[in-house]
Amino acid sequence: MISKEGKIIKAMSGFYYVLSDDEIITCRARGNFRNKDIEPLVGDYVTIKIEEDSLGYIIDIKDRKNELLRPKVSNIDYGIITVSVKEPDFSSKLLDKMIILNEYSNIKTIIIFTKLDKLNEIEFKNFTNIINYYKKIGYIIFSNKDEDIRDLKNKIKDKFVSISGQSGSGKSTFINKLSNNKLELKTSEISKHLGRGKHTTRHIEFHKIDNFYIADTPGFSSLDINFIEKEELKYLFSDFYNIECKFKTCNHIDEPNCNVKNNLEDDYSKERYNNYKMFFEEIKETKRR
Ligand code: ZN
Repeated sequence: MISKEGKIIKAMSGFYYVLSDDEIITCRARGNFRNKDIEPLVGDYVTIKIEEDSLGYIIDIKDRKNELLRPKVSNIDYGIITVSVKEPDFSSKLLDKMIILNEYSNIKTIIIFTKLDKLNEIEFKNFTNIINYYKKIGYIIFSNKDEDIRDLKNKIKDKFVSISGQSGSGKSTFINKLSNNKLELKTSEISKHLGRGKHTTRHIEFHKIDNFYIADTPGFSSLDINFIEKEELKYLFSDFYNIECKFKTCNHIDEPNCNVKNNLEDDYSKERYNNYKMFFEEIKETKRR
């Protein structure tokens, strides 16, 4: 019996596929982590045992650096978000909600602004301010132009990334460009193999494309952040994370001497702050019901 270390890159029908030394080993879960109510996730670093029948058994799961909710994958290096700037129009609320979900899961965000070519000159100039603001508060930004895709590929070399975006955000076009249509091909082959109309959630996989791995997330039309406590929300806004107010517990809403409210200098920080306030109220209302 041999023991090995590896990483789960696919889960399907009760089997886990573990990448270990460039080899993929089919495994079942059989560790005592099951008593602790932990399920292996795609992305987990694991210890496996291989028995005579050559089937592997997952016996230990290492601590996760992060965990995404949809799809359930772990240890993501970058959470890529695609956002349309036109058709559908740019929505700062939608983008900020997606960023919050990454921040909540402790995942580094890369934002891809799509359809920039649909903006006219004045709109483009205005949008540059928005791009610069998100850069200023620590996010990595790319467009889906060819040269940006090339730089992005360098950035995510050997990394595990997830991609999420609203339906119509240009996500599929972006993925096709990023993967030279390989991902679409892979997922359609899997669908055919499973004999189902489409990709199902029972099958979760980090697809290897060139030298990086992608987990695609299902498209969505609305996002729920109401599982977050309203007092936690302020820690998910990198713009005012480091600002100290008179009261340590300040939520930057109605409190006196609030330095966040006093420091809203440029227009875009006001927009972000207004989103914050709106989300705060949304969460408060939901919990009251
Ligand atoms: Zn405050």
